[in-house]
Amino acid sequence: MIYRKDYIPSKTACNRRPALAMTATTITIHNTGNPSSTAANERSWLTNDTNNRQASFHIVVDSKEAIECIPLTENAWHAGDGSKVGSGNRSSIGVEICESGDYAKTLDNAATLVASMLKERGWGVDRLRRHFDWSGKICPHLMYGSGKWTGWTAFKNMVDYKLKTGGVAVNKGVKVTVNVNGKKVADGVLDNGTTYTPARAVAEALGATVVYDAETKTVNITK
Ligand SMILES: [Zn+2]
Repeated sequence: MIYRKDYIPSKTACNRRPALAMTATTITIHNTGNPSSTAANERSWLTNDTNNRQASFHIVVDSKEAIECIPLTENAWHAGDGSKVGSGNRSSIGVEICESGDYAKTLDNAATLVASMLKERGWGVDRLRRHFDWSGKICPHLMYGSGKWTGWTAFKNMVDYKLKTGGVAVNKGVKVTVNVNGKKVADGVLDNGTTYTPARAVAEALGATVVYDAETKTVNITK
């Protein structure tokens, strides 16, 4: 699974990215409620001109990738419980699980992603919430059936298993090839519109010299 950032602009319509600072204390799980959309589709929908809903989320995941659409240090409107301090909307990272394609693979990716996020924060599965916990909406609806949240329990167990067995590898960014004058000089990683690549490889291929000043942590490129 690839993890990439593609942030919606802060001026996005319907106040979908209000950029209120957030120190998250939980992670909230959703299903998209759309059986045919991919993660890329959901990301596009956030900036689609015909979308008139004040609803957003932080991360959406499908069978091949996870896309971070709003920085995790800002709030998103996903919990349906208003904007009070301490609400799900103001304190929880919203993760949307896609319903299209290979759902078993998507669910496994979601569990890996969430386990990696818990691990990074030193949290356990007690930090996980359903959308239902904030507003009573039956969401993530694919984890609910016959009046029971059996799928939710199973999901938390899957996350817990990955957390305890270390199965939490997530590749950050998209690997890209960096060419200078048609010749490959380095590998890079594309993340939120910026390519990260070794400065030296690119500069030297262009005939420049590179000096690193450790004291000021500066890369000086001269030609
Ligand atoms: Zn939801």
